[in-house]
Amino acid sequence: MTARADLVIIGAGTIGGWASVFAADAGNKVVVLERGLVGMGASSRAAGIVRSQGGTPATVGLGRWTIDFYRGQAAAYGTDSGFRELGYLILAITEEDERSGRERVAMQRGEGLAVRWLDADEAAGMMPTLARTGHRGGSFIETDGAIDPPRNVRAYSLAMQAAGVELRERTAFTGIRVERRRGGGSRVVGVDTDGGPIATERVLLTGGPSLRSVGRLAGLRIPAGAARHTVAVLEPHEAFAVERMAMVFDIGAGLYWRLEEGGLLFGWSDPDEMPGEARAIDWHAYERWRERLTGFVPLTRDLGIRRIWCATIDYTPDHLPIVGPGITPDGEPIEGLSVASAGGHGMMWGPAVARVAADLAIHGRTELIDVSDLGLDRFDEHGRSRLAADPIALPFPASAEDD
Ligand SMILES: Cc1cc2nc3c(=O)[nH]c(=O)nc-3n(C[C@H](O)[C@H](O)[C@H](O)COP(=O)(O)OP(=O)(O)OC[C@H]3O[C@@H](n4cnc5c(N)ncnc54)[C@H](O)[C@@H]3O)c2cc1C
Repeated sequence: MTARADLVIIGAGTIGGWASVFAADAGNKVVVLERGLVGMGASSRAAGIVRSQGGTPATVGLGRWTIDFYRGQAAAYGTDSGFRELGYLILAITEEDERSGRERVAMQRGEGLAVRWLDADEAAGMMPTLARTGHRGGSFIETDGAIDPPRNVRAYSLAMQAAGVELRERTAFTGIRVERRRGGGSRVVGVDTDGGPIATERVLLTGGPSLRSVGRLAGLRIPAGAARHTVAVLEPHEAFAVERMAMVFDIGAGLYWRLEEGGLLFGWSDPDEMPGEARAIDWHAYERWRERLTGFVPLTRDLGIRRIWCATIDYTPDHLPIVGPGITPDGEPIEGLSVASAGGHGMMWGPAVARVAADLAIHGRTELIDVSDLGLDRFDEHGRSRLAADPIALPFPASAEDD
């Protein structure tokens, strides 16, 4: 093998892209393999919602770090991902939503987040477009916001170039090369690609919605799923021609909305969606969620639709990220191999997950959050997690199996 790298990263999405920048800035020769073009996975197709209002201390930490990163990006890299602060209201619909929502706020405030509870009148008073009925208010923080996903792809691409990362587009990862260690176990010595092998002692697997198949190529069983997720943008209206209006999440129904170019962007995940690749828009589902949106924002009733797309989103069975060593189905770690997934939250946690992944790949530890629970060893052989699911997530399918 003539090509050599300190670290080879599979996938040039937001996780692989930012991880490569962090690793190269720390003095490593990094090669990123991308089977298509940079950003062609979920990362360019996202809705861009970024929140620190996580359901666990770890996800609060990932969200806060990511927002700080987006805020400091222009100074550090000369580019930005288009982050703008809009505020985020997470609605409670039922009495139980309100009880658990208030508990969540207490946990988040304990983590130092300036989140607060707004009752229905306060929420509608803050947002003239929001109906006063049909909800019980919700948790709110001013500092959550949104990025522009294609601009984020541009930002990490430029940062990769500046950091000297070698990006190999149209080059598919096809497998890892390992060597048995004398004392037992195995370690990485290289990767195979459809453009030839590369010698390396460190490999980071990413892949977003394709992570399960990327893992399989490396001999791992990664319970990462893929499902359809749909986003639509409504025509401009004067009520949305404002600098700032809070984003809203109706968690139980998997519906969210935010400002977009003078109109409203709304997205949803169907709780009954089957795992698998997004192939076509489900127009019946569109009608259902559109109707639900109208209940909360009545003036959208007569607005035309300007844009709609569906794409394949990544998820994990407990809605939490996966970061840690590559472990074979027999429970044996492969030295030098690690895995990273933002579990469908790559805009709000992506840079933080990438930072953790780069830290773990290079130093074997990270200071960013406690990751001891977030590795592959939390899943049993059926892909079931021993952790409680993060309650603030889209209603992804319960299983990560699609074949
Ligand atoms: C419609 C939609 C809306 C979303 N909205 C939001 C949102 O508002 N907020 C939020 O936080 N998250 C959102 N997400 C989720 C977010 O986009 C993802 O979590 C994130 O982009 C995942 O990043 P990634 O780098 O892990 O994966 P990806 O961006 O999918 O990148 C993985 C890359 O790996 C490459 N690859 C796969 N196999 C191989 C191989 N064998 N060899 C080489 N390369 C390979 C793929 O081509 C791909 O480019 C949304 C996703 C979708 C689809």
